[in-house]
Parts: sequence; C-alpha cells; structure tokens
Amino acid sequence: MTQTPLPVARPSAPPESNVSWHEGNVDRAARWKRLGQRGATIWLTGLSGSGKSTIASAVEEHLIAAGRWAYRLDGDNLRHGVCSDLGFSRDDRAENARRVAELALLFADAGSVALVCLVSPYGADRRHARELHEQAGLDFIEVFVNTSLAECARRDVKGLYAKARGGALGNLTGVGAPYESPSAPEVELTEELDVAAAAARVLAALPAIVS
Ligand code: ADP
Repeated sequence: MTQTPLPVARPSAPPESNVSWHEGNVDRAARWKRLGQRGATIWLTGLSGSGKSTIASAVEEHLIAAGRWAYRLDGDNLRHGVCSDLGFSRDDRAENARRVAELALLFADAGSVALVCLVSPYGADRRHARELHEQAGLDFIEVFVNTSLAECARRDVKGLYAKARGGALGNLTGVGAPYESPSAPEVELTEELDVAAAAARVLAALPAIVS
C-alpha cells in the first residue's frame, strides 16, 4: 500500500461552532521527510489476554532498536487518562475506540508507527478507525490476534476470566459480551506463534516506512 502524503483537511465543523481548521506551516510530507519515516497505524484487536500488548511491545522494541519512531497506544493505559471517564457499555466502548482512532491518526500523521492495542470488539468501531485513516491518506493495518477464548482464559493475565466465572464481571468480551471477529484483517495471528514470530508477521505487513 503506497500513499502520497497529502494535507487532508478533516470534515468541516458545524458553522455555528466557530471552529475552523488551521493548516500549519509544515505539511505531512515535510514532516515525514525530516524524520526520514512514514507514519502508519497498526491496530491489534482480540480478546483480553490474547497477546495484543505483548506483541505490540515486541514490534515497538524492534522498530525503536532499528532507529524508527513507534509508540504504543494501549487500551488499558489510555483508560488511566484520556479515556478514564469511560466504562464498558456499548456506547462507551464505541467512544473509547473513536478516541483511540483519533489519537492513532495524530501519531501516524506526525510520522510515528502508532501501535494500537485495543480489544475493540465491534466491527463497526474498527471500520470507523480504518475509514478515518483512509480518508486522511494514512496506512492502517488491522491485526487480528486470534487466540482462542480457552487459551485466553487459561492465561488469565489480569484475572478477568476468573472474575467472570465467579459472576463478578458480567460484560467481559468473549464471555458476557460479544467479540465480532474481523472479516478481512491484514494480518491474523494464531496462538501457535510465539511472540517473536507473531511480531515478525506484523513487521512484514508494515509498508516500507523508511523514506
Ligand atoms: P492483551 O493485550 O491482548 O490483553 P497481553 O499481551 O496483556 O494480552 O497478555 C498476553 C499474555 O500471554 C502475556 O502474559 C504473554 O506473555 C502471554 N503469551 C503467551 N504466549 C504468547 C504468544 N504466543 N503471543 C502473545 N502473548 C503470549
């Protein structure tokens, strides 16, 4: 996927809002040229405990070691700050994914590889994130971390599956709340892959970012 960096204005704000888009003095092409790197978003989706954060961390480590700019936007971490007012209702999950998509867009536009680790269980929310990037001329790579529910529950990194079993967590994705599997992810990772092999698959799917 090759895209020409374009200054893409966002949809106009309603006229009554008194808000208008301000183009800066440095456009995306100039920013990326100075960095020697193209920005992109890698969006990892999957059940809690599937390995999103672990695999994204390995990808981030590899890119940084190679002198590239990458940054992890981890769902749990963002819920400590920018998304700390949100819960896990359908509406809040949509708003959570929307905010993370907007953040990733900014990081990618700035020239970073934004590594999103977000359960993001709903296809509509992931499609929105993809469309946002496509409209802005930015690469978006969806990675389905397809670890089975049984394996996630066996790992139970955060103790959430035990809580769900005990009845203390009614809306855990994959147990009491749905997970809609991606229909056409750029990458699908299965649990047979170790972390290094999974990270290598993700890196192989990343378009050339060095300009
Ligand atoms: P998520 O971010 O999807 O909630 P985490 O990355 O936090 O998942 O947790 C995944 C856990 O599974 C980690 O403790 C990790 O070490 C372990 N794990 C075991 N095998 C793998 C694998 N092949 N890929 C990713 N994680 C794995």
